[in-house]
Amino acid sequence: MNREDSMKAKRQTKPYVAVTPWLDPDAKPFIQIKGLSKQFDDFLAVANVTLDIYKGELFTILGGSGCGKSTLLRMLAGFETPSEGQIIIDGVDMAGIPAYDRPINMMFQSYAVFPHMTVEQNIGYGLKKDKLAKAEIAIRVKDMMELVQLSELAKRKPHQLSGGQRQRVALARALIKQPKVLLLDEPLAALDKKLREQTQFELMNLQYELGITFVVVTHDQEEAMTLSDRVAVMDAGKFVQTGTPTQVYESPRNRFVADFFGTINFFNATVISINTVTKTLRAELETTGTQLNANTDAEFSMGAEVTIAVRPEKIIVSQQLPEGDHLTITQGTVEDLAYYGNRSVYRVRSQSGRIIQVSAQNYHRAEALALEWDDLVYLSWDSSCNVVLAE
Ligand code: ATP
Repeated sequence: MNREDSMKAKRQTKPYVAVTPWLDPDAKPFIQIKGLSKQFDDFLAVANVTLDIYKGELFTILGGSGCGKSTLLRMLAGFETPSEGQIIIDGVDMAGIPAYDRPINMMFQSYAVFPHMTVEQNIGYGLKKDKLAKAEIAIRVKDMMELVQLSELAKRKPHQLSGGQRQRVALARALIKQPKVLLLDEPLAALDKKLREQTQFELMNLQYELGITFVVVTHDQEEAMTLSDRVAVMDAGKFVQTGTPTQVYESPRNRFVADFFGTINFFNATVISINTVTKTLRAELETTGTQLNANTDAEFSMGAEVTIAVRPEKIIVSQQLPEGDHLTITQGTVEDLAYYGNRSVYRVRSQSGRIIQVSAQNYHRAEALALEWDDLVYLSWDSSCNVVLAE
């Protein structure tokens, strides 16, 4: 088996093992961020952030424009000095350690590659600058090009590449110095939708393969969900919620997080009974008086005003009265509908006059729409889909 075949075989045989070190109380974090803040004149861009990231994790910091995520990343990289707090990487306090001496590399938003250099020259640039022996550089560049599937384009210049290929050159250039941590600022922002999806998978496989800790910054919730082991949702310089993609999507902590991840229906309600043994509560919706059950780990008092949140894809739309236990059922009229091929989205005006959004998978092949405007429909969903939010 030659070198190339062996590399390929190695990549194909590494079995995927889910790692969840954050659940292990004895696991030692690889990156520790403690009480980190950044003040720009009178503006607090990052406000007392604390976070542990584990070795080999693909961690994403997600937030809207201006929430402070790039500033946080730049402090990790050493391009920005914290106003307060501590960054520890692999047991070493990074205070006073310049960017070039940190075990970190950063791939920037614009992933600038040198236009006058070929793919292989771009990838080998960092090693050449470090004055490594020519033979060593040649081997490592060859391996890296193989890894990011650019071997056949080695002699091309960046203007002869597609956006996705240029992105891979930038990634290879960042990875070739074998950093312990790679920071990626909006790594896929410049790619169109299809290429972005494909590159997401490549990035995930590569990260898993190499076992390097990735910290990604993005404003794109879909990207954060598909890429990450864990996500921290950031707003106004603070982390609002940290968890796995399913935790933040299915069990958002508050309205901000729930709303940030796609579409969701909110209902104002009042708690009318609580069962602490089964951890369920019963709530009454504000306008219709409809009563519903919901599971919750949080503690609420009787009479508390809460928000019940339900994702559109959890709701089943039907023209017959649905049957079954533990269902929340309401009725309404189809006011808007959008057909996306694989699914349809309905905006149903309920009897209380509010709009409930439903996303329905189009399971059957049909030339006519299953439902039309003004159809009277039932909406039902399992009570376990009711998320109770306090704020
Ligand atoms: P985007 O996605 O738009 O890049 P972001 O979440 O990465 O947003 P940051 O670049 O971290 O945001 O900026 C956070 C806030 O800090 C912004 O309001 C920005 O204007 C401000 N800011 C960033 N750098 C400086 C600076 N050098 N001086 C003053 N204010 C700054």
